Formats: sequence, structure tokens, C-alpha cells
Amino acid sequence: MTNAITIEHVNKVYDGKVTALKDVSFNVEEGEVFGLVGPDGAGKSTLFNILTTLLLPDSGKISLLGMDVINEYKSVRQIIGYLPGVFSLYPDLSVEENLQFFAVMYKSSIEENMELIRPIWKQISPFSDRKAGKLSGGMKQKLALCCALIHCPKILFLDEPTTGVDPVSRKEFWDILKSIRTQGITVVVSTPYMDEATRCDRIAMIQEGQILGINTPSAFIRDFQGKLYTFRSENIFSLLNIMEQCPLRCNYYPYGEHCHIAFYDDVATALPQFEQFLQEQGQSHGEIIAIDPSVEDCFIEIVQMRNALNQTQP
Ligand code: ADP
Repeated sequence: MTNAITIEHVNKVYDGKVTALKDVSFNVEEGEVFGLVGPDGAGKSTLFNILTTLLLPDSGKISLLGMDVINEYKSVRQIIGYLPGVFSLYPDLSVEENLQFFAVMYKSSIEENMELIRPIWKQISPFSDRKAGKLSGGMKQKLALCCALIHCPKILFLDEPTTGVDPVSRKEFWDILKSIRTQGITVVVSTPYMDEATRCDRIAMIQEGQILGINTPSAFIRDFQGKLYTFRSENIFSLLNIMEQCPLRCNYYPYGEHCHIAFYDDVATALPQFEQFLQEQGQSHGEIIAIDPSVEDCFIEIVQMRNALNQTQP
């Protein structure tokens, strides 16, 4: 496999004090859907802005298909498509006018690349006369995707394309991304939604500007260290308080309406001890059930382990 993107030791500090990226290095292979997963403020948009030649790093080296993003930024701009995190189209232009505008800007035409965008265009063309600002969130993103693809880029960057989009449109959007991949376009996509990460070929987990790990979603799940359980609690907040006194080696956190707990001791003894602990603390709870970890559980475990390691280091 050849690398579409190589990122080496990239650092970025804003205003001399906010560290947005800290020694970030990784490669993205040609033709893969690569996910950048992390919470708000992790550094995802900063990295996207650097990758798309809109922001200079303080140090480090990045090349896209062998071209340096700083010295060869003009050539790089010809081969990339970018869907930024904020709505970037012209709200007062119609759907079709927006697409036309982006095609002309890239010295291309709608007809030339219609094959590439046809599956998405089919969904938005009934609204082709509507002003872009009047579209629903999901439709806006589909139009933005068409505009980012209209010059047939080799690498497509999508910064949180599904944030604030309804679940059905989110799923449709990811189906579209998979079909784009079959056209040989490398896709780099960021998301704060961990469930979406499983749809990527590989993911980089990022927090506080640092890459925590890079792997396939299934490998992250396979490498989960704890034995994971879920249960319902009548009062999750009081449970979280009393868990500070729990003597077991475990990691617990609210997960939607449930509580997840990962044990790091032999569960044959840890589980009954935990049930006894809850009973002694007067905590009523539902059945404690073993489950497979999600990517989100993996992210939480990796962050916890990193924090624990940092605390033991001087
Ligand atoms: P994400 O996209 O993962 O939410 P960002 O790259 O936007 O993360 O932000 C990373 C960090 O850099 C955050 O602490 C954010 O507040 C800070 N940051 C982002 N842009 C700027 C800026 N223009 N000036 C100062 N700080 C910034």
C-alpha cells in the first residue's frame, strides 16, 4: 500500500499558550477511509486546517501524495476536497448555483464529474432551486459533499460532517462515504461520535492534541484490556460517588442510561465482590451483564491508562 498522506512530528500552539497538536505523526494509506476520533477541543480541526493548507504548523512535515503541504500548497489544493466543520456554502445561492460555483472555481464542470456525485446528487436534485441556507442539516451536508467532490479530488477531508445531523441522514452520509471509497478516493473524516468510528477502515484516537492510538476499529476492540459489564442503576450520580470507595481494580463510567464497569482482576472473584460492595452501600441495580466493548469503551480505557501512567511518572 502507498501512503496518500504522511504526517511527521507536527506541532501547533495557538497564541504561544494553547497546545492544539503535540508531536502528531501517522500515515494514511491510499484508498482508505481514515477516521480522526476525539472529543471537542482534541485538535481535529487544527489538523484538518493544516492538512488542507489553510494553517501553518509550528513544526513538522506533511506530504499529500508526495507533495509538501507548505512548499507545494498550490498543487496540493488541486488534489484535495474539503468539507469544513462549519457550513461553508453560499446560503443565498440555490443548490445548483452553489455546485456550479465550485465547479467553475476548480475549472471543472458539473457534467464532467457527474458520475462521481450522481448517487448524492439524485437525493438533492429535487431541491436544486432551493436556497442552500433553507436546506435541512442533512441536505446541507450532502450538497457540501457534492461541492467538495465536483473537481474529482484524490483526497477528501471531512471535518465532523455529521455533527448536528439527524441519525437517518448520518447513516445515509456514511453509506455515501463508503461508495466514494470505491472510486479510489482517500477519505479522511473526523467525528466526535464514537459509533461512527466503526465505519472507518482505520482510526486515530486523539485527545488534547496527542494521538492516543491508531488501529482498525476491530483491533481496538480486540485489544481492550478489561472485562466489561453493564448494568442499570437507580441513581447513577450517587453510584458514581460511592464508586470512589470501591476497593477493586476497575474503571466505571456512565454510558447513556447505563453504567459500564471494566474489571482488571479475575472476574470470578471481582464480580461477586462488586455486587457485595453495591449491596453494602445500599445501591439497588439491575442485572450486571457481560458485554463486548465499543470503540467508545476502548477510547475511555486508553485515556484512563494514559492518565494512570502520567500520574506514576515524576
Ligand atoms: P476539535 O476540532 O477537536 O474540536 P480544535 O482543533 O478546534 O479541536 O481545537 C484544539 C484546541 O485549540 C482547543 O483547545 C481550542 O480551544 C484551541 N483553538 C482552536 N482554534 C484556535 C484559535 N484560532 N486560537 C486559539 N485557540 C484555538
